[in-house]
Amino acid sequence: MKSDIEIALNAEMKPIEEIANMLALTKEDWEPYGHYKAKLSDHLLEKLATRPDGKIILTTSINPTPAGEGKSTITVGLGQAMNRIHKNTIIALREPSLGPTMGIKGGAAGGGYSQVVPMEEINLHFTGDIHAITTANNALSAFIDNHIHQGNELQIDPRRVEWKRVLDINDRALRQVVVGLGGPTKGMPREDGFKITVASEIMAVLCLANDLQDLKKRLAKMVIGYTYGKEPVNVEQLGFEGALTLLLKDAIKPNLVQTLENTPAIIHGGPFANIAHGCNSLMATKIAAKLGDYVVTESGFGADLGAEKFINIKTRAGGFEPDAVVIVATIRALKMHGGMDKKQLETENLEALAHGMDNLKKHMETIKQFNLPFIIAINKFPADTQKEVDYLINWCSKEQAEVSLVDVFTEGGQGGTDLAYKVVELCEQKQSDLTYTYELNDSIETKIEKIAMKIYGADGVEFSSKAKRQIKQINENGFSNLPICMAKTQYSLSDDPGKPGRPSGFRITVKELHPSVGAGFIVALTGDVMTMPGLPKKPAALNMDVTEAGTIKGLF
Ligand code: ADP
Repeated sequence: MKSDIEIALNAEMKPIEEIANMLALTKEDWEPYGHYKAKLSDHLLEKLATRPDGKIILTTSINPTPAGEGKSTITVGLGQAMNRIHKNTIIALREPSLGPTMGIKGGAAGGGYSQVVPMEEINLHFTGDIHAITTANNALSAFIDNHIHQGNELQIDPRRVEWKRVLDINDRALRQVVVGLGGPTKGMPREDGFKITVASEIMAVLCLANDLQDLKKRLAKMVIGYTYGKEPVNVEQLGFEGALTLLLKDAIKPNLVQTLENTPAIIHGGPFANIAHGCNSLMATKIAAKLGDYVVTESGFGADLGAEKFINIKTRAGGFEPDAVVIVATIRALKMHGGMDKKQLETENLEALAHGMDNLKKHMETIKQFNLPFIIAINKFPADTQKEVDYLINWCSKEQAEVSLVDVFTEGGQGGTDLAYKVVELCEQKQSDLTYTYELNDSIETKIEKIAMKIYGADGVEFSSKAKRQIKQINENGFSNLPICMAKTQYSLSDDPGKPGRPSGFRITVKELHPSVGAGFIVALTGDVMTMPGLPKKPAALNMDVTEAGTIKGLF
């Protein structure tokens, strides 16, 4: 089979105007960004307000292997399959970050015959949204340092500036830095650090804003640090919310592209699910629901991270509910959860598979807790044996869980029509209301405990003394009613990546908390999770190249 990039470069893309016409968009609803990409108007949602909403299908997964389990691939493939069975469906995805693209993944626009295109542009600079967020974030850092340098009217304590600089590249050397060295004309020396752009609060703000004015209001509320008297300082006090909004005026417009089978796809916003809330923008999801009868959207990593935050953060902010959930499982990841070495996953091992089923079982229970109908999509990999596939399907029928064997990677939409028919049926089944994991007025400790115990299966939560001090401060500042954005490893239900399967008898350790008041959540950092990842020994970037003729290589 051809590589992802070979398939993508041979795609028969339609000019983006044709895709916009398919959606019955008028000239003022969109603007072209080259031949195959477009920006949708940020007033589109307002214009379509009275239209009924389509059904929202959320794709999530079991805890993944480092290579990913094919959630984006299934999301794209299911969207294509839904259109094949004549259901007007739009895909809503996240924008890939260059961090993992250059690091371990080599691309995040689906795979095989289920990709969004132009894949190489989507994976690289796309329409510049992530760069705009980097710029806005770092402009704010410059404004803060300048404020301190120019007399520090607000009495910002340089030791308590929480706002960090960002870069959309994995760069561990920048995790902790000192800025302002070199004497009085170079500013006030202080400790700073870099996060990856997708962990910036501005990324979360962009993804949770309903429109440009809401974006501005949220930017104004972002807390950048504390005064010498330990009072919070926000962007409004500094007076830069207007400038930041200006820097983001195009980034807030969702991007329209297409799949290999010309299914419309809206790609917008890209926070990670381990260190941020992990969902594409609210505007993109809502616009897709207005334009299509069905939307297929994804949330990052496993249901313990992305789906939990999709439900408890995003649907609350957007005032909507998903209609059905697709849990992506792969035989290779289940075998890894069953104790198999990552390097051996291509060998048949029914015993390891049987042991690994516990991980899937926990994620099924999680979706049941939300009161949502779900189906398991087995993403078929070439190394899966018939015996393994049969085992998994039988297990699902014993558990009375809907299941579909999906091969959208090699067959495109055709390989997902069974899943598509079943998902349509599932969307009709939803009767009861969505159940959240916690109430917003629960205490911060209770909210975190409920997530840890109900979603991760932990016995409880330990709060470091720093976390306890921060909770006190968050309560005093009146931010305690916000939802929680857990930052946790994606590899385990626990906060220890070395515990696969369904660990039990563990507690979660919360080391630090940060109020993201503009985004509208409190980030709780657990385990050793880093907001600036590092590169592996052999980064995916080693295989990347562009030939003299302009042919791209190495984006998988
Ligand atoms: P996720 O969204 O879960 O991180 P992706 O959809 O990005 O996963 O897929 C991860 C990688 O696995 C991609 O390189 C993709 O091409 C590849 N992949 C996905 N599904 C399959 C499959 N069924 N067979 C082979 N490779 C696959």
